[in-house]
Amino acid sequence: MARNTEAVCRKCRREGVKLSLKGSRCDGEKCAFNRRSNAPGMHGARRGKLTDYGIHLREKQKVKNYYGVLEKQFRKYFDLASRFKGNTADNLMGLLERRLDNIVYRLGFGASRPQSRQWVTHGHIQVNGRRVDIPSYLVRQGDTITVKNKPKSKKAVKTVIDDGLRDVPDFLYRDNAEIPKGVVMRLPTAEDITLPVQTALIVELCSK
Ligand code: SF4
Repeated sequence: MARNTEAVCRKCRREGVKLSLKGSRCDGEKCAFNRRSNAPGMHGARRGKLTDYGIHLREKQKVKNYYGVLEKQFRKYFDLASRFKGNTADNLMGLLERRLDNIVYRLGFGASRPQSRQWVTHGHIQVNGRRVDIPSYLVRQGDTITVKNKPKSKKAVKTVIDDGLRDVPDFLYRDNAEIPKGVVMRLPTAEDITLPVQTALIVELCSK
């Protein structure tokens, strides 16, 4: 399976925004972006003005790195979003936000999206009572996300929860019971996305 193996903190520095890919480290003093926010590489500190294409590209890469998707998969989301009714940019962001690994993160069961992805692929997460180990699984309204009722699964998620629970967005409900559970109250919209991104530029770039 193809993977982006670039050091994660370099991604934040390249995109010029904190993508929170390393859990609690992202909020602490050790955050590489807090210490050096310029682009990585020998000439990163004196990176010149971006071209028009460069500006469009960076917006797309920012979203891909934020959700941890590769180009091929991103294109599939874009094609799907453009086939739906309504604004393509909003549809695209809504689709990405519906990914199971993102929902697990947004529920606070994983310290970061990469870790949440790991919880899913390692089989710690169930949707409507059935194991789903596909991070790109798109949740639907009313879906119930639970942590598998096994000591290993509960322990993995509990270590994250014990570090402090994040607030859940409006479209989700979380039950902090013995077995942590979340419900998708409605499908996410563009307003639920916290990443500062100019989605119209992504649509312009991908439509060419
Ligand atoms: Fe980005 Fe987190 Fe690394 Fe900071 S610690 S640069 S927010 S991944």
